[in-house]
Amino acid sequence: MRQKIVAGNWKMNNDMAETEMFLVQLKKQVIPEGVSLMIAPAFTNLNHTYQSVKDHPVTVVAQNMHQSEKGAFTGEVSAAMLKSVGIKTVILGHSERRSIFNEDNDLLAEKVNTALKNEMTVIFCVGEELSHRETDNHFKVISEQLEEGLFHLSETNWKNIIIAYEPVWAIGTGETASPEQAQEMHAFIRKTIADAYSNTIAKNVSILYGGSVKPDNASEIFSQDDVDGGLIGGASLNVESFMKIANAFE
Ligand code: PEP
Repeated sequence: MRQKIVAGNWKMNNDMAETEMFLVQLKKQVIPEGVSLMIAPAFTNLNHTYQSVKDHPVTVVAQNMHQSEKGAFTGEVSAAMLKSVGIKTVILGHSERRSIFNEDNDLLAEKVNTALKNEMTVIFCVGEELSHRETDNHFKVISEQLEEGLFHLSETNWKNIIIAYEPVWAIGTGETASPEQAQEMHAFIRKTIADAYSNTIAKNVSILYGGSVKPDNASEIFSQDDVDGGLIGGASLNVESFMKIANAFE
């Protein structure tokens, strides 16, 4: 079912002490009703974070996982390992994973399959680069990412899929898509899903916007019809700005 979600992607930030400081402050906050709050700390702090917020309405999310169930994959983390420390949601396909770690749509489709097989929820990121937008290829790129990464799924799988639209040119750059650009792409994503599956599935999938969301631009972006919340990088590292964003729904 479509939900309002604010998810913080901490990336490779916050060691144990910084994570603990954040959690102490977070647990003093009133979480706005009807908003699902999520945080994605580093692998090393997932267990501690999960234990710490177990009695609070906060979902702890992994930033990545490997596509194989187990085996000789030095340095990697499996779905079962995440689940064994209480983690049931994973971000897949973040643009940094796609560009720096060469994760392509085929690999991401495998990761999605493994996550769903392990009964996890996936926050699946899609987003075009600036050159795609400048050459008017942004819709094509997004539909390819959706088709190749997700459209092999069955209808029932979709209850465990959240989409994050994150234009690469807006991530960590301070530049954000205008509310109109965000709405246009979110509506396109919903229509693409409706055409591939059904209106019901498209209507029920939560689509988050990501890319330099801050306390002062969140409410305009979140007020768009097809924007169900945000995937927040930099501004999620500070409890005050993260909570301002969580309170930005009208
Ligand atoms: C992100 O990395 O998912 C992101 C949206 O980062 P930022 O908010 O810092 O642009």
